[in-house]
Amino acid sequence: MASDSPSPFDPYCQRPAADIPEIVAGAKLDGVSPDVYAREDGTFDQQTGQFACLDCYLKLGMPSSDAGWKAGQPVPQPVSSVGP
Ligand SMILES: [Zn+2]
Repeated sequence: MASDSPSPFDPYCQRPAADIPEIVAGAKLDGVSPDVYAREDGTFDQQTGQFACLDCYLKLGMPSSDAGWKAGQPVPQPVSSVGP
């Protein structure tokens, strides 16, 4: 294992990639390890090793931005939300 690339970890549900059924299932389909599969997720931040599983991503409100949203970043609030 390369020490300079942290294992993918979901800080929202506190699970490593290998403990998330959807990641494990997707990895099997692709013939790769759960870690490799999670690294390909759009929310994976290679600096921190954090990513959001689908469940957490949905709970966060499916955040996105022009630059692409990565786990650990602040969740952009919808423009249409009613103010405080
Ligand atoms: Zn999660």
